Amino acid sequence: MTRFLVVFDVDSTLIEDEVIELLAEAAGKRAEVSAVTERAMRGELDFAESLRERVSTLSGLDGSVIEATYERIKITKGARKLIDAIHASGGKVGAVSGGFNQLLSPLADLLGLDFWRANELEVIDGKLTGRVVGEIIDRKAKASALREWALQSGVEMGRTVAVGDGANDLDMMAVCGLSVAFNAKPKVRDEAQLVVAAQDLSQLIPVLGLSTK
Ligand SMILES: [Mg+2]
Repeated sequence: MTRFLVVFDVDSTLIEDEVIELLAEAAGKRAEVSAVTERAMRGELDFAESLRERVSTLSGLDGSVIEATYERIKITKGARKLIDAIHASGGKVGAVSGGFNQLLSPLADLLGLDFWRANELEVIDGKLTGRVVGEIIDRKAKASALREWALQSGVEMGRTVAVGDGANDLDMMAVCGLSVAFNAKPKVRDEAQLVVAAQDLSQLIPVLGLSTK
């Protein structure tokens, strides 16, 4: 029986980076893309539209940039410890991201995540096309993923936790049992039930009453 479910945002939550910015750096467009990301995470732009705009800067990049970027990702301090504590306490862990499947998939394996979902970068003939394929994971899709995984795990919504930093996490934070702002933008800190100010996810272990064995 699953006792509870914790769903994390990925960029700037489970990892320290914004993957789209690392990818854009390879295209020589980091500054441009960072400015748009910052505005999107503050909730000033429509996420889907801003994602399409940012991904378009990646058009023509060699597909090998994906692996090279994965190697640069820094997992947030305390993330592994927290995930292990959740599992040890009978919980499940999900990650839902406005980033990309091609990078989240190996990360999910590494961290032992139970569920994960992100956008899919389109790659044709070994090159990024500057587009994403399929449904865009925006704030609504993040909330849907949390609901779906709770249902699948037989966990009632009151026993779900959502952890995130950006405006696109607000919908999942509104539907879950306990919302946690981590490393978060002002708007997210204002709306969350709990704010973790330290850049260390293991701070959540005692707060959630988890055992570490
Ligand atoms: Mg984020």
